[in-house]
Amino acid sequence: MISIRVLPICVVLLTSPLAAEKAEDYGLDEAQVKRFAEARVPVIDFHVHLRGGMTVEKAVARQAVTGIKIGVLRNLGKGWPIETDGQLREFLDSVAGRPVFVGLQVNDRDWMDKHASDLLARLDFVLADTMIMPMPRDDSEPVKLWLAEGYTIDDAEAWMERYVRHNLRVLSEPIDILANPTYLPPALEDRYDDLWTDTRMRRVIAAAVAGGVALEINVRSGLPHDRFIRLAKRMGAKFTFGSNNFDDRPINMARCAEAIDRYRLGKDDMYSPGAPPGE
Ligand SMILES: [Zn+2]
Repeated sequence: MISIRVLPICVVLLTSPLAAEKAEDYGLDEAQVKRFAEARVPVIDFHVHLRGGMTVEKAVARQAVTGIKIGVLRNLGKGWPIETDGQLREFLDSVAGRPVFVGLQVNDRDWMDKHASDLLARLDFVLADTMIMPMPRDDSEPVKLWLAEGYTIDDAEAWMERYVRHNLRVLSEPIDILANPTYLPPALEDRYDDLWTDTRMRRVIAAAVAGGVALEINVRSGLPHDRFIRLAKRMGAKFTFGSNNFDDRPINMARCAEAIDRYRLGKDDMYSPGAPPGE
């Protein structure tokens, strides 16, 4: 029953900082872990923040528990953990040589001009979302859309048109992954099907496909919804998984297996920056 591939996982478990954790803590069973580890379809969580007690060592151990490979990242931008090239270098050095993918979540729209290209070249991937947007106009200061008290939306339809343009701007950057696609702010989230028309979805997906940007299937937020994923697959988009953790506690990863089965995601549907490091 026990294959050769399972043995090194057990060895890692005995010595890992997550020694007490089990696949079921992540909403997975042993068969799924084995299936993920065998990587018929690359299953990679590219949205593991090193924050709230999460460390690269724990990320490596988590890979062994879940069979899901990990991309670790930190936020880059004004007011975020990494603002300077010195801090960027320190981060890259701190995770160098570990068997995980290494990325950044970019929160300002001029990140590609602000940092040394030799440092950016050391990244396996760059992830961005659309959740920070200038309000109320395109030339206004950006606001964090999840902080609802910071702004108002008077006309939802007009805002959606601006928001789709904002999506296209983010997708035009040299990024690899769009996190939390089709995110809507708290005031509009119950109007998802009404505001995210097929036409608007198609504009976002077409830009992602054209720019070679993969679309995250987030395991915590439920974004994007079923209709978007089906449309994106038909339009030839690539997908990734993301958990967007705030701490080091286990996260239910069941959506990975569900999405692979429901949308029949194969190797060619998934984004991968090359062979997993350390293999
Ligand atoms: Zn994030």
